[in-house]
Amino acid sequence: MADVIVLGSGPAGISASLYVKRAGLNAVVIGRGGGSLEKADKIENYYGFPEPVDAGELIKNGIAQAKRLGIPVIKDEVVSLSYLDRYVVETKSAQFEADSVILATGSSRKSPPIPGLGDFEGKGISYCAVCDAFFYRNRPVAVLGDSEYAFHEAAELMPTASSVVLLTNGREPAVALPKGLPVIKKEIAAFEGKEVLQSVRFRDGSAYAVSGVFIALGVAGSADLARKLGARTEGVAVLVDENMQTNVPGLFAAGDCTGGLLQISKAVYEGAKAGTSAVKFIRSKKR
Ligand SMILES: Cc1cc2nc3c(=O)[nH]c(=O)nc-3n(C[C@H](O)[C@H](O)[C@H](O)COP(=O)(O)OP(=O)(O)OC[C@H]3O[C@@H](n4cnc5c(N)ncnc54)[C@H](O)[C@@H]3O)c2cc1C
Repeated sequence: MADVIVLGSGPAGISASLYVKRAGLNAVVIGRGGGSLEKADKIENYYGFPEPVDAGELIKNGIAQAKRLGIPVIKDEVVSLSYLDRYVVETKSAQFEADSVILATGSSRKSPPIPGLGDFEGKGISYCAVCDAFFYRNRPVAVLGDSEYAFHEAAELMPTASSVVLLTNGREPAVALPKGLPVIKKEIAAFEGKEVLQSVRFRDGSAYAVSGVFIALGVAGSADLARKLGARTEGVAVLVDENMQTNVPGLFAAGDCTGGLLQISKAVYEGAKAGTSAVKFIRSKKR
């Protein structure tokens, strides 16, 4: 049995595990791979790197850092979280128990199976407005989605892009649209372009010219798991206090899954805070 199980091996989860381990407690990290950072290419806005750093390298180094300290980093997918007299984490292939759990599974931004989407990732298709809006200044962009998250992304893009339109891909928006956000509800057939994305082709044969499409169909795994234990959530975000504590004792959350600024710096900070809070929680329990 571990003192703390960290769900997610991205910047938030690894950062949390380092603080638990260095305080002399046992941490186990479970991550299935494929976090946000795996979709990124070069990172230019994280402290301490004079040159752009490869996102894949950052993930690898984080995991190596945890392993060097003796923290097990298990590659598996978490399917369930429950509480009996301790936390029970079920993965696809095993079961783990701990006194405390830190949710750090990021924000799952789902990709719809639209032809061309994979081809233009990083060349017009983005998953992060706050990260990439700068590259599309004074150019037409679209946001694919129909929920609050999509509206948030559109609002982030409006000050820099020449135009922003919402694409719902045949769906009715789940909530009322904000004023001033044009919407195209037609079903999408493909994303098209030569080297980079140039247009969206609809099933009725018409096309819409864009330089960028931001995918915003996020569903956070952490929020689903948190809800199972009665923890409070808001949309896809797990609600926490300033110590990253949820309303359930011993359950903490950090990184993209708590909402707000979806950036590495915030994930690393929140991981550190969640790790130290989990240590305090366990020490007070043992006293
Ligand atoms: C295209 C793109 C570009 C970006 N560019 C930048 C940038 O330039 N600068 C910047 O600061 N930020 C950038 N970001 C954002 C940054 O990647 C995230 O803010 C950061 O990775 C969040 O860290 P996290 O640990 O909370 O989540 P993630 O990095 O998403 O990690 C989540 C972890 O949880 C695991 N996981 C999820 N579900 C399960 C499950 N059910 N079972 C087990 N494990 C699970 C995943 O495998 C992963 O290990 C970018 C994001 C994208 C998508």
